[in-house]
Amino acid sequence: MNAITLPSSNAYRIVDHAYDVVVVGAGGSGLRATLGMGAAGLKTACVTKVFPTRSHTVAAQGGIGASLGNMAEDNWRWHMYDTVKGSDWLGDQDAIEYMCREAVPAVQELEHLGVPFSRTEEGKIYQRPFGGHMRNYGEAPVPRACAAADRTGHAILHTLYQQCLKHNVEFFVEYFALDLIMDDQGACRGVIAWCLEDGSIHRFRAQTVVLATGGYGRAYQSCTSAHTCTGDGGGMAMRAGVPTQDMEFVQFHPTGIYPAGCLLTEGCRGEGGYLTNSEGERFMERYAPTAKDLASRDVVSRSMTIEINEGRGCGPKKDYMLLHLEHLGADLLHERLPGISETARIFAGIDVTKEPVPVLPTVHYNMGGIPTNYHGEVIRPTADNVDAVVPGLMAVGEAACVSVHGANRLGTNSLLDLVVFGRAAAKRAAELIKPMETIAPLPPKAGEAALDRLDRLRSAKGGTHVSVMRDTLQRTMQKHAAVFRNTKSLAEGVEKIKDIWTGVPDLSISDRSLIWNTDLMEALEFENLLANATVTMAGAEARHESRGAQAHDDYPERDDKNWMKHTVAHLDDKGGVELSYRPVHMKTLTDEVQVFPPKKRVY
Ligand SMILES: Cc1cc2nc3c(=O)[nH]c(=O)nc-3n(C[C@H](O)[C@H](O)[C@H](O)COP(=O)(O)OP(=O)(O)OC[C@H]3O[C@@H](n4cnc5c(N)ncnc54)[C@H](O)[C@@H]3O)c2cc1C
Repeated sequence: MNAITLPSSNAYRIVDHAYDVVVVGAGGSGLRATLGMGAAGLKTACVTKVFPTRSHTVAAQGGIGASLGNMAEDNWRWHMYDTVKGSDWLGDQDAIEYMCREAVPAVQELEHLGVPFSRTEEGKIYQRPFGGHMRNYGEAPVPRACAAADRTGHAILHTLYQQCLKHNVEFFVEYFALDLIMDDQGACRGVIAWCLEDGSIHRFRAQTVVLATGGYGRAYQSCTSAHTCTGDGGGMAMRAGVPTQDMEFVQFHPTGIYPAGCLLTEGCRGEGGYLTNSEGERFMERYAPTAKDLASRDVVSRSMTIEINEGRGCGPKKDYMLLHLEHLGADLLHERLPGISETARIFAGIDVTKEPVPVLPTVHYNMGGIPTNYHGEVIRPTADNVDAVVPGLMAVGEAACVSVHGANRLGTNSLLDLVVFGRAAAKRAAELIKPMETIAPLPPKAGEAALDRLDRLRSAKGGTHVSVMRDTLQRTMQKHAAVFRNTKSLAEGVEKIKDIWTGVPDLSISDRSLIWNTDLMEALEFENLLANATVTMAGAEARHESRGAQAHDDYPERDDKNWMKHTVAHLDDKGGVELSYRPVHMKTLTDEVQVFPPKKRVY
């Protein structure tokens, strides 16, 4: 056992570990990576702040996309076309091709691992239509979402956890990762974590660290994400000098329950549900004549917001739309959408078999994240190589930006991204790492800066409680980085975020212990949220166009000439942002599908 004494003279007990691979996060992406690493014979630890099966992946409802063609003819090339189009041409086409091709074996593998998918009459995996997934290059919706009723994430997460246990992987459950340990060459050498249960500090030395920490939906006031989705991976990366990418693209899901924000899966519309405004009109027919209610999420969320802004919202405040499921019948709702029937009853007091549910666009997913290539290796562009890899560091899942979702993610493509790239990262690690080859000693003072930060927050005695600051941050994001954005509002947003940074030294917490100190954990999470929010607002303000989830009133057109490029954001420790850009990968892996931007968007 070692100890580190900080300049503040506080000393911390340190427990040191050595692994081939340390995966931070036990959601779908973290568990799929962990499973692959363990199966490849690498000594693997999975560090997670919540019990694995409580990760947000458990809440995923609608399905995982793969062109299995179980219910109607389908093809990975059509899936690829839809994904590039859905990304509004900001997705990297090599990575998209990789994901859509690998989708079929990846889902079959899940089936073999034991995921209890719903079944067709013939016993094949059941598939339902989902927004933006079309047949024959955009002709008509195709059932591509492989589903386990409306609890697909639950089924996948539990199966992956059981499989990990089979492969002798070690879990460090309820350990909060504080920061990455980097050497002076910019390589990652490990990670430092705080054990919530006994207050001890753990330094993990590793040949590779994989960040699989999920999204940062909690930077907003109303979101569908769990309270744990605080962007800790992005925070850790940026503190270690690694950038984030395309953070301005935040997906609003059209059907969050009004007003609680909990999700009603797009599978509702996939099963035949539809939206109406206060005049009883199925307004999506006007905005997207072909795809209608199954247009991609950015399109439906914008259309709903326009309806509300033009006075056709429902209810006394005219601020929501109605989602109709009652015509589908009690039997189908019971079999295919049991979870959302329960959610609607609990959170809106509504029986979906009898009346429509009030819904509203709600923050749902972060397309941006830590940039990686399609092997899961993290990228930090240099002057002579925009695709330069950070040695020893990988990222997967919602924390990463591969980028397969570009400016807008299609439903069912996230669960797919988790398993395809979790698997790809494990394959890559098995190529790069020899099991228990000498793991270099930690650099001098490894983890000291992270402990210093922990110590500063633990003794914070300012005048503003962390919950108040977080609330200000969430309101700022909700108002200024919303579905529709404009120059004035974004500039105000940037200033408000600067004010929050100025207020950080005034932060206070009331619990000074190290054991299950949720106050301290929330302060650490708040700093991560703030880091993610800062680059989100800065990226949005700088991007003078409308693309995918960024709908800019003053620049309503997509501008491929000037803006078909990824935003790369570096953050300093005072909240200063430095933006640069890297090209979108337009080159596919095999040239089998070439998807160049059309002149006009047609939905
Ligand atoms: C309600 C809802 C429904 C959805 N439905 C679908 C769907 O039907 N289809 C689809 O494709 N997508 C869906 N999505 C999106 C998809 O589920 C998520 O993007 C995905 O599950 C994220 O998985 P992940 O592995 O990246 O992270 P998560 O599942 O969020 O897991 C993050 C992990 O990181 C750990 N962690 C975080 N910070 C730390 C830290 N500091 N220290 C230690 N551990 C840490 C957590 O403990 C957790 O284990 C849905 C999302 C939501 C919110």
